[in-house]
Amino acid sequence: MIVAIDGPAGAGKSTVARGTAAALGFTYLDSGAMYRCVALAALERPREEPAALAAALDVQLGERVRLDGRDVTEAIRAPEVSEAASRVASDPGVREALVRKQRELMSAGDWVAEGRDIGTVVAPDAELKVFLTAAPEERARRRARELGTDEGTVLADQALRDQRDRTRAHSPLEPAPGAVELDTTGLDVDEVVAQVVELARR
Ligand code: C5P
Repeated sequence: MIVAIDGPAGAGKSTVARGTAAALGFTYLDSGAMYRCVALAALERPREEPAALAAALDVQLGERVRLDGRDVTEAIRAPEVSEAASRVASDPGVREALVRKQRELMSAGDWVAEGRDIGTVVAPDAELKVFLTAAPEERARRRARELGTDEGTVLADQALRDQRDRTRAHSPLEPAPGAVELDTTGLDVDEVVAQVVELARR
């Protein structure tokens, strides 16, 4: 079984996806970490085509994220990597390479996968699709708390990334047909996890 969780930055996808995976005993897939790895590699190797990097990179996801064997768990969360990730993510060649890897991973077993296009592109046949949203100010507040940075800066960066993710020609961020839309504004994570787990069990 596949549970697809999509939505904009800061909607609570990672926390909800992790919690849901733990509750159901499924494996968690953070597809954004893959785009972040390509972005980090592209920043370090600016002469190379991002799509070629995406096809060649060895990304290991789990408790720690490894890129070609190197632990990049913290490095991929830097604001400049977030920015670069949303840029490389609009490259159709990058998307094609990463979608292929994601489908391969999820071809066996039970998964909770989160991203922007899991329900629309990667796993359109997922048994449960959830689209998480929250008010922009609340999303920025959560991110700022995570990163230990200023809320105003996060809000501005987030608006730019959201706009880019929503308007790109290839796989724009939008709810998949049949997705359950959950607005997490003012809800605590445990409530949202409980709702998603309940939907999955049904
Ligand atoms: O989810 P996260 O913030 O880690 O994703 C980083 C960036 O990667 C997003 O801003 C988005 O542009 C891109 N992304 C994507 N498709 C996914 C996951 C992430 O385009 N499935």
